[in-house]
Amino acid sequence: MKTEYDIIVIGAGLSSLMFLSKMLKQKTKLSVLVLEQKKSITNNQSFCVWEGPGLIDIEKQFKLRAKHRWEKILIENNGEKIKKDIQPYRYVYHDGHATLKKLSRQIKGQVETLYNTKVKRVNEMGKKIQVASSNGNFSSRYIIDSRPKIEKSEIKSEYIQQAFIGNEIEVNSNYFNKFEATIMSFSKNKTETEFIYQLPFTKKRALVETTLFSKNPNLKKLQSKHTKNLKKYGTYKILKTERGIIPMVLIEAKKNKKIFKIGTSAGMVRASSGYSMRKIANWLSMHKGKTLKKNNLLSFKYIPNPLLDFFDKIFLRVIKNYPDKSPDLFINLFSKSNHKSLIKFLSDKPSRTDIINIIMSMPKGLMLKGLLKKK
Ligand SMILES: Cc1cc2nc3c(=O)[nH]c(=O)nc-3n(C[C@H](O)[C@H](O)[C@H](O)COP(=O)(O)OP(=O)(O)OC[C@H]3O[C@@H](n4cnc5c(N)ncnc54)[C@H](O)[C@@H]3O)c2cc1C
Repeated sequence: MKTEYDIIVIGAGLSSLMFLSKMLKQKTKLSVLVLEQKKSITNNQSFCVWEGPGLIDIEKQFKLRAKHRWEKILIENNGEKIKKDIQPYRYVYHDGHATLKKLSRQIKGQVETLYNTKVKRVNEMGKKIQVASSNGNFSSRYIIDSRPKIEKSEIKSEYIQQAFIGNEIEVNSNYFNKFEATIMSFSKNKTETEFIYQLPFTKKRALVETTLFSKNPNLKKLQSKHTKNLKKYGTYKILKTERGIIPMVLIEAKKNKKIFKIGTSAGMVRASSGYSMRKIANWLSMHKGKTLKKNNLLSFKYIPNPLLDFFDKIFLRVIKNYPDKSPDLFINLFSKSNHKSLIKFLSDKPSRTDIINIIMSMPKGLMLKGLLKKK
């Protein structure tokens, strides 16, 4: 196997595969090596996005097939239920395993991929970059790095974490309404934002997740809360497990002429929600028609939206400093805003009218407290 490449990609996850599938030409002259620490593509993740008018159709653009979609959503707190028919929009579920598999199949002829290969060190040596991995040493002119490493100096907001444990379960009774997705059902918690997220696929099957927005999530406690939450469904069988910790933070990746950060560590996760698939798709659509060449990697740099970052900064301050009030923030947003504006806002594509609609539906006192709160 050769050891020198034009580009080495660290990680075969969502951001690098979406990027390569869109930006590598069919018969590219570039030599690209992808190094992934996992043994194979795993089956423990889902990617949900909002779809509808004004948003890039991810299924079409990335040749993916969604597993399920919902046109009704629910959010609830303290017995108050907000149900919304979101047509012509929908909340769409992509199975993680199928998504990553499809994307990697699309670039199969253009890249070499080594699984079970953990990158240990990356060293810049003159014009070349040396990559030491568990599977030997490689070198390249450029690196695309999707490791979720964030340096302190790159953090531009409060730093909280979204921790969740979820199971796809099958119950005995016809418990679920497969047409309605529960986006947030808040639980009482004075020190963290806690909610259940429930995505039903049939009357008997659903993905149920217990989620925390927290400064320092205790995963043992979260697991016992989740086990308790599952009891309300009666007898159930676990079909799948997914868990994760996603940083909820604004990031400005350090400039580097040879190492191109991508994904989580490049600020491609929406700070206020922890979602990234839509953000990655929006970013790539800005480079439509371009292809990856020997010297143009840095021209794909991700540029954040300062207005959305400003809102997210306040959101994060509210969530971090007033966790007992954060359900009010979400309930206000979902109940008072027009769903089209809300979905475009959550999908990083709001118009001026959408922004005004969102501002009008925010709890002003709480947002002002967040704005004025010192670190
Ligand atoms: C369980 C879960 C559910 C999520 N659900 C949603 C959702 O519904 N909608 C949404 O938009 N977002 C969701 N997210 C958030 C986000 O979409 C994902 O985190 C997304 O995968 C981010 O893309 P990425 O490329 O930055 O990271 P990843 O997809 O994690 O890719 C990084 C890859 O790099 C590999 N890697 C790391 N270190 C090394 C190393 N040293 N050597 C070699 N390989 C390495 C990792 O194994 C991984 O495969 C979810 C996240 C998780 C964890």
